[in-house]
Amino acid sequence: MTTASEIRRQFLDFFRSREHIIVPAAPIVIKNDPSLLFTNAGMNQFKDYFLGNKAPAKQRVADTQKCLRVSGKHNDLEEVGVDTYHHTMFEMLGNWSFGDPRHPENGYFKKEAIAWAWELLTAVYKIDKERLYVTVFEGDDPDKLPFDEESYREWEKWVPGERILKGSKKDNFWEMGDTGPCGPCSEIHVDCREAAEREAVDGGTLVNAGHPQVIEIWNLVFMQFNRLKDGSLQPLPARHVDTGMGFERLVRVLQGKQSNYDTDVFSGTIAFTEQLCGKQYGGSDSRADIAFRVIADHIRAIAFTIADGQLPSNTGAGYVIRRILRRAVRYYFSFLNRKQPLLHLLVPALAAQFDDVFPELRQQADFVQKVILEEEGNFLRTLESGMRRIDEYLTTAGTSGVIDGKTAFELYDTYGFPLDLTRLIAQEKDFGIDEAGFQAEMQQQKNRSRAATALDTGDWTVLREIPTAFVGYDDLLVPAQVTRYRSIKVKGREQYQLVLDNTPFYAESGGQTGDTGTLDFEGEVIPVTDTKKENDLIVHFTGKLPAGIEGPLTARVDTEKRLYTAYNHSATHLLHAALRKVLGTHVQQKGSLVTDSYLRFDFSHFARLSEEELREVTFLVNDKIRENIPVDIRYLPREEALKSGAMALFGEKYGDTVRVVTIDPAFSVELCGGTHVPATGMIGLFSIIHETAVAAGVRRIEAVTGRFAIKHIYDQLQSLHHIGASLKAKDPLKAIETLLQEKAALDKKVARLEQQQLQQLAEDLARGATETNGLFFIGKVVEVDSADALKQLCFLLKPRFDRYLFVLAAAVNGKAGIALMLDDATARQTGLEAPRIIREQVAPLIKGGGGGQPTFASAGGQDATRLEEAVEKVRTLVF
Ligand code: ATP
Ligand code: MG
Repeated sequence: MTTASEIRRQFLDFFRSREHIIVPAAPIVIKNDPSLLFTNAGMNQFKDYFLGNKAPAKQRVADTQKCLRVSGKHNDLEEVGVDTYHHTMFEMLGNWSFGDPRHPENGYFKKEAIAWAWELLTAVYKIDKERLYVTVFEGDDPDKLPFDEESYREWEKWVPGERILKGSKKDNFWEMGDTGPCGPCSEIHVDCREAAEREAVDGGTLVNAGHPQVIEIWNLVFMQFNRLKDGSLQPLPARHVDTGMGFERLVRVLQGKQSNYDTDVFSGTIAFTEQLCGKQYGGSDSRADIAFRVIADHIRAIAFTIADGQLPSNTGAGYVIRRILRRAVRYYFSFLNRKQPLLHLLVPALAAQFDDVFPELRQQADFVQKVILEEEGNFLRTLESGMRRIDEYLTTAGTSGVIDGKTAFELYDTYGFPLDLTRLIAQEKDFGIDEAGFQAEMQQQKNRSRAATALDTGDWTVLREIPTAFVGYDDLLVPAQVTRYRSIKVKGREQYQLVLDNTPFYAESGGQTGDTGTLDFEGEVIPVTDTKKENDLIVHFTGKLPAGIEGPLTARVDTEKRLYTAYNHSATHLLHAALRKVLGTHVQQKGSLVTDSYLRFDFSHFARLSEEELREVTFLVNDKIRENIPVDIRYLPREEALKSGAMALFGEKYGDTVRVVTIDPAFSVELCGGTHVPATGMIGLFSIIHETAVAAGVRRIEAVTGRFAIKHIYDQLQSLHHIGASLKAKDPLKAIETLLQEKAALDKKVARLEQQQLQQLAEDLARGATETNGLFFIGKVVEVDSADALKQLCFLLKPRFDRYLFVLAAAVNGKAGIALMLDDATARQTGLEAPRIIREQVAPLIKGGGGGQPTFASAGGQDATRLEEAVEKVRTLVF
């Protein structure tokens, strides 16, 4: 059997031998694209080439790309585990030709793409030609798109006409999103059925019909158009080939299996899960077998996303990961009867399995395991309390027979219960769910969150087809012109985005916030409120458009803000290096924010930093500042930089040439695109403000530099000085310790005196007791300073009498307090109960409430003017 690794290698070798460059996969989490949370196709990282925003460095490339299809336009989540060929995370093998009108000879189009796909599948992988079907685009009238005759002619060279099928826009016209590059495509499907079945039913009738054994494996997209917001299509400046083949499906075909889960891509994980749960995987449609598949699938998505830097959280990409993880937990909890965390145990084997293609998982296996374990533990706990919530509901819901929509939604929203989990538990108790009610609640929440994040983006108005140059490392003031602009509506507020031909504005990235400043259109000055990247465009945000938008302008960055930001960025590098020196090299950056006023640095580490460690880090960073080390910035080929030991971040996409920032080659060398000080001395001072936990295995340090650090330290000294002054002590710490000791002694003394006073009061009260037929009554408004004292008095009086009724009242800080006590026998004989008397007779008088045990109860209220009346009222109940 050819192994999965071998199959992957054969693909890459095949295209390498046809002049393709093999490139690394992009991270699975996407950063600079507001339209996409995760990479969902191999072409995502090349989007700018298709849009013409950027010229490709190489025209033919191939790779294998980690993709995730669980949100947005492509969402396969509900199928995963239920069927045998849709995954959350999967590898997409791809080959590309980026058209470049200047060098047409380097590219290729339909002819080569089709011939090579056929050659690879039939000559290299030796798939039986009879089992292959291909589809071509039939055309679409409303969109004025013609039949893709060119592809048809190319396929005819290899495939008999009856196995070339025509497909509709739905299956044979590929679009990345609502807008963007698109074009006709040609898919290749494989019929994996047994000979007898193939004899009986023609495979061609099963293509694109959801048959689990007749599946699409490869899609060849021929990009020719760009779709605009109004739905219209524009021809792209150059035509491209973009192909994607599902790796797990290919392996399943080549290994002759009926299911992706029976291949060596998944069998290791499944076997280990069998051991852990003491159950056998049978490959059926039973709940337990679905659970095995869900787990084997989901752990990949969870582990690789965390390795690429995305922690589970309550919003955005982090929430998607949390949902996937919970789906997996609920499957093993409910269907494999596993009540302990399981997923994290699967990480080491997975990391070893993928070490040759995606080593980032092995390099961070400990960290990834820790994060998953914490998430699993938390959810297992809420899972149990959610189960209790359901039980509670079911006992009070009586005979209604349904869980109402509100409760089902509360379970979903608060306890993270997917609706189908609630449904299943309800069924076991012969209950249904008001699903319409649930959907209504869900819709309401969606509407709320949509209103909160509504973003409406217009089309670009292109003034000039010129790429942007960033000149802001050297210049902060340059002449420029607008190349394109558009309006966006954020939460109903109109804003504008402008792109310049060259710009000094640094766009938010690598944690460093975007520059602000102004654009001066010959006297009309427009403030720039923020600068961000969208793919490779540098986008300037403004509140209005100038009248002379087509004319020349001067772009000016706020220099002071930029300088303060540079202090914090260089200090962040020093901090990172210092942490690795003091704590160890397991410290990896997990997030960073660099602003002009402070810096925030998140890193993997498993324990709170001790005072000693914080001190060491602070001193080391400040030593490096005083050494006034020149900050050396140079551009190097990526491989060379990494070999020399430069620190790169997981989940970050680096080009072939990288920018290397060195602050003493023996101390800090990082790949970084940010802005820095020329020498560390300028930072002046570094001071840590907080050290906290962010998530399992991730700590956070917040710190300040320069003026802000001086102010921070000055303020602290100031308050220390004030403390000393108000204590009139040279050594405030010692003075406070003495004060605390004195206070403790006084507290004790006061407590003793109060006790004596109460004893005395109790004596007096006991002497004033009245007696009728052996039953003693004490009722009085007394002077004490807490409600608790009333209770204590009752308990002090109690041992002095056999049969008794006490009612004591006091005004405490202007509020009414009342305590009532009677003995068991009296309570029984008279049928009086302390809480009832309190609630019915006393509470209404004092405008309050209360309760307690049958023989002792108390009340508090707003009105302290009717205490005498209350006491009297109780007396008349018995006497
Ligand atoms: P399908 O119709 O089977 O969902 P698709 O049309 O969504 O596939 P494409 O967007 O064309 O697929 O992606 C290219 C290839 O990636 C497909 O031919 C298939 O082999 C693979 N693929 C797509 N989605 C998945 C998935 N969820 N899991 C595994 N492989 C997939
Ligand atoms: Mg699909």
